[in-house]
Amino acid sequence: AKESGPNECQVYREEWDEASLERLRIQHDLRRALINQEFMLHYQPQYDMHTGAIVGVEALLRWHHPERGMIPPSQFIPIAEDSGIIVQIGQWVLEEACRQNKEWQDAGLLKIPVSVNLSMRQFWQPNFPESVAAVLERFGLEPRYLELEITESMTMDADKLTNSLLRLTDIGIGISIDDFGTGYSSFSYLKHFPIDRLKIDRSFVSDIEDDPDDAEIVAAIIAMAHNLHMQVIAEGVETAQQVHFLKMHLCDEMQGYYGSPPVPSERIAEMLAA
Ligand code: C2E
Ligand code: CA
Ligand code: CA
Ligand code: CA
Repeated sequence: AKESGPNECQVYREEWDEASLERLRIQHDLRRALINQEFMLHYQPQYDMHTGAIVGVEALLRWHHPERGMIPPSQFIPIAEDSGIIVQIGQWVLEEACRQNKEWQDAGLLKIPVSVNLSMRQFWQPNFPESVAAVLERFGLEPRYLELEITESMTMDADKLTNSLLRLTDIGIGISIDDFGTGYSSFSYLKHFPIDRLKIDRSFVSDIEDDPDDAEIVAAIIAMAHNLHMQVIAEGVETAQQVHFLKMHLCDEMQGYYGSPPVPSERIAEMLAA
């Protein structure tokens, strides 16, 4: 065990204070970030596993902080969620992704859906499905060119969730479950919820080659999704061996550095023109 000197407690307190100060700073800066347009979206292509064609893009939030440079989502989204400002940020993401997708379409590029990540807080806003419909209307984007990604942690109140999901799918918007396999109750709700697509979490995909358990899990998720008439996309695909395994097990789509990292919108436009 570690020697506990008289100053240990003091050190711990200072570290703790530093961490909470940092959270406060980020929280403060996030408000300004929206007003000063410090956010932008990058997009990561999703590929058909068998033809290699781009079949969608995921919008991923980027924050260019004026003093600190790029801050990754993992460092500010949890804080934005706790403080509630994620609702406004998420609304911006939704609008920007729809606007951008319509702009690509108007430029005559390949038409594909854009996937947008949702936080629970956004989803629980009153009349959320109608507010999404209003955004689509405003930018003139057909509902089938938008997909919303939800996570399993959002599936707490099953009745309320089903109701909101049904309203969204009635509009024609696609729904996918993000990070599939990492949350709770993965299987029970799948039968009841109107879900188009499962995204197999990166943690399973990255270990396909070395961990027989993970390989089994991935194969089982693909088979199950197909039995439930859902599409499956593998996240975090980085190697040719992973691609080979996923193809063998008839995974539908893939996303990951093997295909392309997330890139700025201009780069996507080039890819969709090719
Ligand atoms: P996610 O939704 O699971 O997004 C995929 C993350 O994996 C992205 O990280 C992406 O850059 C990364 N990634 C993609 N391919 C690979 C790969 O082959 N290998 C590895 N190691 N990583 C890969 P990013 O952009 O840092 O986003 C992290 C998380 O932040 C996202 O995870 C998502 O949960 C959240 N996030 C990002 N944008 C938004 C947003 O607009 N709204 C909300 N609520 N959350 C967002
Ligand atoms: Ca996602
Ligand atoms: Ca994910
Ligand atoms: Ca493992």
